[in-house]
Amino acid sequence: MAGGWSARRPLSVASPTVLRVSTSLLDVLLPGRCLGCGRAGWPFCEACAERVTVLGPPGCRRCGRPLEGTVDRCADCPPGPVAWARAPFLYEGPVRQALMRLKFAGWRSGAAAFAPWMEEALLDEPPLAPSWRRYSWSVVTWVPLGRRRRRERGFDQAEALARAVARRLGLPVVRLLERVVETGPQARRSGAERREALRGAFRARARPPPWLVLVDDVLTRGATAGECAQALRIAGAVDVGLVTAARSLGSPVPARCRDPVRSTGLRAPVLRVGGRRR
Ligand SMILES: [Zn+2]
Ligand SMILES: [Zn+2]
Repeated sequence: MAGGWSARRPLSVASPTVLRVSTSLLDVLLPGRCLGCGRAGWPFCEACAERVTVLGPPGCRRCGRPLEGTVDRCADCPPGPVAWARAPFLYEGPVRQALMRLKFAGWRSGAAAFAPWMEEALLDEPPLAPSWRRYSWSVVTWVPLGRRRRRERGFDQAEALARAVARRLGLPVVRLLERVVETGPQARRSGAERREALRGAFRARARPPPWLVLVDDVLTRGATAGECAQALRIAGAVDVGLVTAARSLGSPVPARCRDPVRSTGLRAPVLRVGGRRR
């Protein structure tokens, strides 16, 4: 894909062998480097911070999709088994590059960097506010890689994010799910094809608490998270909420989201830390 992440990345991580070796090497070699471009600046350099799209309120109460006003659900809401969803960023530009590095090169610092933003997306405008307090005695779990994929990569990006988010929220993190069917790449499949390929792909390993937080790196249409939430509900969960580091959306976001520093009071300082803005 010309102009995509692979064309622009300054770091060369090509074969699976190199990937394994690179796991955590990036953390050692590039401490405090921009998660988007690898140049100076943490967590994002000023140029990358400008290109980050922040998904803040007002918007959909269920999935956090920014809109001009507040609604209870929207066209981008994840499937039914996911009770609610939150993500701090749109999956594009520097955020996409950062998550690709976390996923394929095991740049662990990325998980710690995203955790405060994910926490903020949750607590800034708590999803389904009256029930949020129940989560104070809940657990955090994640959408697991299959055993083969995990072995190949040596690293599960969703687990790394879940552990970092759980630390922020002060909740225990528990491996509750296992992937019993390994699916191929999802990117080129349609929504219906994804859902079909994923049916029954996850199983709960233990009885979950009634309310819990599921973590993944990216929310696209929610087919994977929906299957996980369904498996957890079959095992006894009542309300499964989803937190991802970023998400893609079916239509453009309001202009305010593209000007995060000016428009989102709470999140601006976090971005400023990296960009060393004014
Ligand atoms: Zn950068
Ligand atoms: Zn929604």
